[in-house]
Amino acid sequence: MLDGLGREINYLRISVTDRCNLRCRYCMPEEGVELKEHGEILRLEEIRRVVEIGAQVGIRKVRLTGGEPLIRRDLARLVGWISSIPQVDDVALTTNGVLFAGMAAELKAAGLHRVNVSLDTLDANKYRYITRNGELNQVLQALEQALELGFHPVKLNTVIIRGFNDDEIMELCRLAYTRPVHIRFIEFMPVGELQYWSSDKIISCEEIRQNIEKHYRLTPGRVSRGNGPAKYYHMEGGQGSIGFISPMSNHFCNECNRLRLTADGKIRGCLYDEREIDVKKVLREGGSDEEIRKLFIRAINMKPDRHQMNKNNWGRENRKMYQIGG
Ligand code: SAM
Ligand code: SF4
Repeated sequence: MLDGLGREINYLRISVTDRCNLRCRYCMPEEGVELKEHGEILRLEEIRRVVEIGAQVGIRKVRLTGGEPLIRRDLARLVGWISSIPQVDDVALTTNGVLFAGMAAELKAAGLHRVNVSLDTLDANKYRYITRNGELNQVLQALEQALELGFHPVKLNTVIIRGFNDDEIMELCRLAYTRPVHIRFIEFMPVGELQYWSSDKIISCEEIRQNIEKHYRLTPGRVSRGNGPAKYYHMEGGQGSIGFISPMSNHFCNECNRLRLTADGKIRGCLYDEREIDVKKVLREGGSDEEIRKLFIRAINMKPDRHQMNKNNWGRENRKMYQIGG
């Protein structure tokens, strides 16, 4: 379905949990994370119904995220349900990768098409630092397992933070050069734990790309599926590709095709827009398919024309990314 600005809204990002098995410094506080009670979180059957109805208004692509989606019990069952909805042709996952290797075959068999693994550093000590105790090896295994099982494309999400991992950009590129992975460099946003965020830690994608071009010849290109907001480049002679996601320096709102469903059952038109539509309430009060369809249409019509993340205090006043779904 088209929104008021002519954008075709066909993509639903679903947060299946607000919990996580890591505590990345830029995303969650170490302690005192405010979590929803079990009963406040949508049941898998409820998520399934919302997606089925979303498919009637044009949803064709679904991404499961969180928090960490792989800690949600029976996730493969949900993947199976969603992938068998006839109109949905793409089911993807964003994960920190910690639990992925052990679950990958089951998820693939259930119908998962694609996976994005988040990884900000190739140094085990730095990984432990930024995630507050994660094991890098588990994520590297996740990547290998995803490639082995034929997920395509396999993408890496890498947030570049000045003073933390900007010295590793070339090494990360080398990974995408030698392996068929698609690495996406993401600008650091004020959407999580703000103790760690500051504007001087942002490195623009333009700066990152100019540095990479001193070492690799890049040509603009496309990855087969799910380009989303990233601008992609092929690396001459390399197996994978490089993408840039620049929400801070160059917003891509005019191309935005997504809605979000939060773990506690709210539809959001934009990560950065605090207005939410309570679909859980309608579900639990026995709402009809038609009523839920109308909520989707309202959410689509409510999508803002652009985000306001650069405003002072934006990140302090809004729900965090792990609460909304990253
Ligand atoms: N737990 C999963 C993971 O880490 O992939 C899914 C949820 S996580 C919130 C989704 C993505 O958001 C990750 O790639 C993470 O690096 C990114 N992210 C979290 N906080 C961010 C921030 N402040 N700026 C940019 N990206 C951020
Ligand atoms: Fe967890 Fe993902 Fe946030 Fe890290 S970025 S704390 S893995 S939700």
